[in-house]
Amino acid sequence: MQSHISDRLLAAFTPFFPEGRIGSYVNGEIVEGEGEEIALVNPATGERLASYPDAGPGVATRAAEAARAGQKAWAALSHAERGRLMQEAGRLLRAHIEPLARLESLSAGKPIRDCRGEALRVAEMFEYYGGWTDKLYGNVIPVPSGHLNYTRREPYGVVLQITPWNAPLNTCGWQIAPAICMGNAVLLKPSELTPLSSLAVAALAERAGIPKGVINVLAGFGHTTGQAALGHAAVKKVVFVGSVPTGGKIAAAAAARCIPCLLELGGKSANIVFEDADLERACIGAQAAIFGNAGQSCVAGSRLLVQRRIYDEFVGMVAAGASRLRVGEPTAAETEVGPIQNARQYRHVLDMIDAGVREGAEIVGGPAGKVEGPGYYVRPTVLGKATNQMAVARTEIFGPVVVAIPFDTEEEAVAIANDSDFGLAGAVWTRDIGRAFRVAAQVKAGTFWVNMYKTINVASPFGGYDASGYGRSSGIEALQEYTQVKSVWVETAEQPNQPFGYAPAVDS
Ligand code: ADP
Repeated sequence: MQSHISDRLLAAFTPFFPEGRIGSYVNGEIVEGEGEEIALVNPATGERLASYPDAGPGVATRAAEAARAGQKAWAALSHAERGRLMQEAGRLLRAHIEPLARLESLSAGKPIRDCRGEALRVAEMFEYYGGWTDKLYGNVIPVPSGHLNYTRREPYGVVLQITPWNAPLNTCGWQIAPAICMGNAVLLKPSELTPLSSLAVAALAERAGIPKGVINVLAGFGHTTGQAALGHAAVKKVVFVGSVPTGGKIAAAAAARCIPCLLELGGKSANIVFEDADLERACIGAQAAIFGNAGQSCVAGSRLLVQRRIYDEFVGMVAAGASRLRVGEPTAAETEVGPIQNARQYRHVLDMIDAGVREGAEIVGGPAGKVEGPGYYVRPTVLGKATNQMAVARTEIFGPVVVAIPFDTEEEAVAIANDSDFGLAGAVWTRDIGRAFRVAAQVKAGTFWVNMYKTINVASPFGGYDASGYGRSSGIEALQEYTQVKSVWVETAEQPNQPFGYAPAVDS
């Protein structure tokens, strides 16, 4: 079986792969898969854009072996040289922001304006970590003996990164850059629904001079290709970004092999608005928090907690703003809200809106919910009169649907925010500075914003509490995740004491 690709998508794909074939990127070339056919569907129309065969275990093995060899070549370069090559990759990515954005917008169904931002952020990630290659020092430990004891931060070798469909471009740069910065090679398994931008980033990195085999991309299903990669002996760590149930399976497979695992899962983040907030700004923030990327964002502010005295006014403002957002074709410049990425997720979002209404929530303003016609479009939807016990307040919807819950006191707002399985993000809007810091300290979340929402940066750590996962991406924390620490002991005594068994390090 061979891959097929529509003319429109072909035009967006050939700047990166002139042959126009979709497959896995292994040791610097496209390798056709060996498994069953996977269809890429245009979420804006429901029509088939392309198809390609699942990579399968044979290709996964080849990629793991390519990564093992690539890692040796990569780690043999000086730290400074690795940094120069990563900076060059950043420069080349910057020069390709428009073609990367076009490819992503068309194939993933994301608004082109968001895709441009994501492409730029990927360039920044390579630049940022390109500057870190020769700057992460070990320590010299003052042990209570005459020995010299120091630590080295060493790469794992080959790391497997499994990523989802909601922000493929962003997520691939976010995980590849810190991993290779520290001398690892990667096997990246993007979602089978959105593999193309990850393939493009790998090709650009290699054009920049990063050796073949350092970045390999597996185009295929999780349960076949992803599992085969997970089982390969070369893989020494797995990083997973995606849903809670799949994260559990990945962690179990990693545990069975005794390899470490990092999980970056979902959220049901509380966006808390107090009556003393700047309501105009909070209203824009609340919309950006949930309607950006049609709500398909792990940090989405999907629970809007509003102080009771301003509840009706503020929720009405958010609903009015939502009705003015431009929902439309993702590649159109003015589109603010695109379609839901795939049919399964589209049905889930619509089912959740129905479930909310059945439980007694009310759609505020309107029209809301399903957009009639082709494509997987859902209008920004505000569910008012909601309680934190409703399924819509407890389940991740991952669509443009916000659940507005009233509260009376600061204590109650924090209690509602924390009454969730998740702990990914949150925000508070208030003019009371003491309250802002109190709430920021008390809400369980890996990321928290004050009078803003959704800003993230490669320099700042990111990750979850509770069911939102463990481990941290971005910042210096990601470098720690992608290295293991070796403690080196050096005998310095002229007449060393040579005890049998463990030698206690005692004052000499
Ligand atoms: P969704 O269900 O919305 O597609 P997932 O969390 O299941 O989200 O998918 C995220 C990533 O995990 C994708 O790359 C997918 O292919 C992969 N995946 C899914 N199931 C498995 C599995 N059993 N083993 C390994 N990877 C998987």
